[in-house]
Amino acid sequence: MASTFYPAWIAACAAGINEHKDYLTDLDRRIGDADHGLNMDRGMTLAAAIEPGEDAAAYIKQVALTLVSRVGGASGPLYGTFFLQFSRALASAEDPGSDAAFLAAFAEGIAGVKKRGGAEVGEKTMLDALVPALEAGRGHEGEGLPAVTEAMSIRAKEAAEATRDLVATKGRASYLGERSAGTIDPGAASSALIIAAAKEASAQ
Ligand code: ADP
Ligand code: MG
Repeated sequence: MASTFYPAWIAACAAGINEHKDYLTDLDRRIGDADHGLNMDRGMTLAAAIEPGEDAAAYIKQVALTLVSRVGGASGPLYGTFFLQFSRALASAEDPGSDAAFLAAFAEGIAGVKKRGGAEVGEKTMLDALVPALEAGRGHEGEGLPAVTEAMSIRAKEAAEATRDLVATKGRASYLGERSAGTIDPGAASSALIIAAAKEASAQ
C-alpha cells in the first residue's frame, strides 16, 4: 500500500476500542442498553484482521462492510456508512496518504452519518465528536497528517466530554429525555477513540 497509514489506523482503532470497551459499555449502560463497547470491540477486531492489499480505498470499504455486518445496534450501520463514504472519497483522491485526502474523506463520512441517521450536531451523538474534530483538523490542512490528526484528537476528546451536558434527541438515549444529560454519549466517546487512533497511526 502506498500509505501505511490506513491499516495502522484501523489497527490502532481496534486496540483503543478494546482497551476502553468496558468504559464504552458503562456509558451505554447509563443511557442505552450496555452494548456499545462490546459491539465496537467485535467489529473493530474483525476489521483489523482484514488484509490491507494495495488500495487504501478498497481496504476502507472492506472495513465499512465488516462494521455494517458485525457491529449491530445503531452504531454499526452508522460507522459502516461513515467508513463507506470515507472510502468513496478516498477512491477519487489524488494522494490518499495526504492530510487533504483524509480531511475530505472524513467530511464525506460525516455527511453519510448525517444522511443515514438524520441527526445534526447538538443531539448527543457521535456527530458531536466527529464534526468539531473535522473543523479542528481543517484548521491545520497542509501541515501533514500528524499535525491534522493531533488537532482533531484533542478537539474530539473535549467535544466528547462536552456531550455530558447535552440532552439526547436521537438514538436510544433520547428515550430518557432530560435524564440523558449527565453522561457522556457512548458514540461520541468511541468516535474520539477512533480519532485518537488516527493520531497514533500518523505518528508511526
Ligand atoms: P444502540 O443504541 O442501537 O444500542 P450502540 O449502543 O452501538 O447502538 O450505539 C449508540 C450510539 O450510536 C449513540 O451513543 C450515538 O452516538 C450513536 N447514534 C445513535 N443514533 C444516532 C443517529 N441517529 N445519528 C448519529 N449517531 C447516532
Ligand atoms: Mg447500545
